[in-house]
Amino acid sequence: MSRTKRRKKRKTLIIVAEIICLIVLSFGIYKIADNRAKQERQKVAEEEAAKQAAIQEEQARQEKQQELGQWYLLLVNPWKAMPDDFEITTVEVENGYVVDERVSDALKEMLADCRAAGYSPQIISTFRTRETQQYLYDHTANKDDTAIPGHSEHECGLAADIIDSDSAGWSDPLIDKQEDMPAQKWLMEHCQDYGFILRYPKDKEDITGIIYEPWHYRYVGKEHAKEIMSKGICLEEYIEQF
Ligand SMILES: [Zn+2]
Repeated sequence: MSRTKRRKKRKTLIIVAEIICLIVLSFGIYKIADNRAKQERQKVAEEEAAKQAAIQEEQARQEKQQELGQWYLLLVNPWKAMPDDFEITTVEVENGYVVDERVSDALKEMLADCRAAGYSPQIISTFRTRETQQYLYDHTANKDDTAIPGHSEHECGLAADIIDSDSAGWSDPLIDKQEDMPAQKWLMEHCQDYGFILRYPKDKEDITGIIYEPWHYRYVGKEHAKEIMSKGICLEEYIEQF
């Protein structure tokens, strides 16, 4: 091979090497740029996801607040008075006993189904006016067992005291023994299916401020009632963890 040819070949090899270097370099630059773009896209996507999550969280919080403000979750207890602007329209359920009209169908259905199952529930108290509650409070022997006027669920028209009619002849049917009566057992087992809860459960006196009352049923709506009864908690606890 002549010197000229060798020189030409070397030059060609150098050019090829330079081209290869250029390609490798370009590819490296491309990869770096591509990675940066990917990271940028990922960052934007993460920021968007976080934004959406925050929006959803806020929506859920607002929905919860709205739900808590619904009439059927109204909390009235010894420490929380019934709001002055709580409006109700009462209708008769049976035997002159009236409740909030939004609750009456559910209560009627519960009583009818309890009777159809062979039991004999009997309403002994439902809606009370402020005057009636005041009278009961003024004339009770034990003020600890009677709600202060303005603090009774009976004034809201959302509650009913129901006993087994076989206990109607007892000197006082409103005692713990009521829980053993057949109609009461049925009501305690099924009340949530109609949107009611046993409002003052056993061992929750410190939280509800009211003694165990295996006769006082309170409407909260089916969904809430099922959760409250299945968890064995009281309304105060449910609202707290809502
Ligand atoms: Zn009651």
